[in-house]
Amino acid sequence: TASLIDGKAHAAKLRADVRHQATRLLQEYGLQPGLAIVLVGSDPASDVYVRNKVRQAAEAGLASLEHRLPTETSEAELLALIEQLNGDPAVHGILVQLPLPAHINESKVIHAIAPSKDVDGFHPINVGQLSAGQETLIPCTPYGVLLLLRNTLPSLEGLHAVIVGRSNIVGKPMAQLLLSEHCTVTLTHSRTRNLANVVRGADIVIAAVGKPRLVRGDWIKPGACVIDVGINRVVENGEPYLVGDVAFNEVVEIAGAITPVPGGVGPMTIACLLRNTLIAACGSRGITLSNAL
Ligand code: NAD
Repeated sequence: TASLIDGKAHAAKLRADVRHQATRLLQEYGLQPGLAIVLVGSDPASDVYVRNKVRQAAEAGLASLEHRLPTETSEAELLALIEQLNGDPAVHGILVQLPLPAHINESKVIHAIAPSKDVDGFHPINVGQLSAGQETLIPCTPYGVLLLLRNTLPSLEGLHAVIVGRSNIVGKPMAQLLLSEHCTVTLTHSRTRNLANVVRGADIVIAAVGKPRLVRGDWIKPGACVIDVGINRVVENGEPYLVGDVAFNEVVEIAGAITPVPGGVGPMTIACLLRNTLIAACGSRGITLSNAL
């Protein structure tokens, strides 16, 4: 059976590292990294995410500044707030929690965030830099997956990585990151033919689809490393469960290593957000940061 990749433990280590470095920044440079989190409206899932981000930021020694705006906030008002945060020297990272209400143009809002403060890594400048293989702020979920892979495998070079799902927030940036690690990358999606056969060739499988247990045991090459990004809420036998995009009970028998859901990729995402805020704060003063774990 596969070994379990303990995302919770890795995330705790990463948060401890952020905390350690934040303390050092404060002592040596009088600099406290600040993360502004903007939430428009009252989506219950977003509310939980934002509360977690604020709490973990505080625990890691970052200043977190929460901006909760009513659903009827206009696009102009939101853009004005972002402009203000862009110019605020105490703010090093700006995160606008998505999705936004329908009357606000998401893309316009993402464009408005200063690229140097874009800790989600969604601004086209950062997207472009990532695809050009340049150093930049990396989207948090693929960043977390990369750190888990580096920790699990002795080397990524030359391995065949098959990514299932081509979203802008997970699949596409994941492909760019793994190319930079010298993997051979295949990016698959809903129109891919013979998906099972493509996945059978993979040394690394990354599932980011949003379909419960799509990836089956007989799709997996024995010994492969399987990362499950999916978070799906299902009800089975009257009980609510969180399940991934991978049929865990089948795949765990075949794979070499696998992330559980929950407790795999999820905890890494927020830890990487904190790490990005630290990177942005250092960048604002030209301070070099030592490498992540
Ligand atoms: P998305 O809906 O934006 O994209 C899904 C992708 O899957 C699309 O590219 C689509 O082409 C592909 N797809 C759909 N059906 C398919 C099929 N049958 N076969 C192959 N490909 C198919 O989703 P997303 O935002 O990338 O999120 C994917 C999953 O990851 C969701 O479950 C989401 O909740 C989860 N997620 C988790 C985290 C985390 O922190 N762990 C972060 C982001 C997303």
